[in-house]
Amino acid sequence: MSDDPRADERVRMVECQIAARGIKNPRVLAAMRKIPRHVFIPPPHDRSAYHDNPLPIGSGQTISQPYIVALMTELLDPGPTDRILEIGGGSGYQAAILAVLAKRVITIERIPEVADLARSNLEKLGITNAELIVGDGTLGYPAAAPYGGIIITAATPQIPKHLVDQLEEGGRLVAPVGDRDIQELIRIVKQEGRLMETHHGGVRFVPLIGRYGWEGGNA
Ligand code: SAM
Repeated sequence: MSDDPRADERVRMVECQIAARGIKNPRVLAAMRKIPRHVFIPPPHDRSAYHDNPLPIGSGQTISQPYIVALMTELLDPGPTDRILEIGGGSGYQAAILAVLAKRVITIERIPEVADLARSNLEKLGITNAELIVGDGTLGYPAAAPYGGIIITAATPQIPKHLVDQLEEGGRLVAPVGDRDIQELIRIVKQEGRLMETHHGGVRFVPLIGRYGWEGGNA
């Protein structure tokens, strides 16, 4: 992507907003440098693609702040042979980052128009190992389980047990857990049938709407 006119902005984003704030995994930093975030954001907000903010993507939904994408990716720690499940496809940006790092990515988005946007964004970049499913991600996706990693990119009141069941031994799950307004980033690692849970600070996500999430419409 050396002919990308916004490559310099992206390098600065990674240095100043991501590496400077403690993200160390070189594979994650390289993926964040590689994937053009502006491709995932409809105009006019694409102009601000390399600022330190979430941005609107339509249908009342958002693309997450770059630092939070990097932090959640580092916590998920996707390996080159991993199958990863994302819940909350949004623009497809997080899925694109994961597709650089893992073997296969399945991302579930509940709003069909948002899923169309994500699918076309992934196609524009020629990403072929990320698959978009329209549906309620709170149910997971047992057809391709077990997963090396599961990432929930919308605010969930709790981590549904059946999602943990879809993790392989050694698998990681990362999610913002809390109420509709404010959440805490939680990482769970499944080890010998036990769940090791760590907490990674406060975040704000749009709500996860579905059978095991919140009730209601888009907001
Ligand atoms: N990861 C996305 C990206 O890279 O752009 C950002 C995700 S956005 C913060 C949250 C997304 O979760 C929204 O697009 C929303 O429609 C979706 N969502 C909410 N509830 C869902 C559910 N039950 N299943 C799947 N997607 C859901």
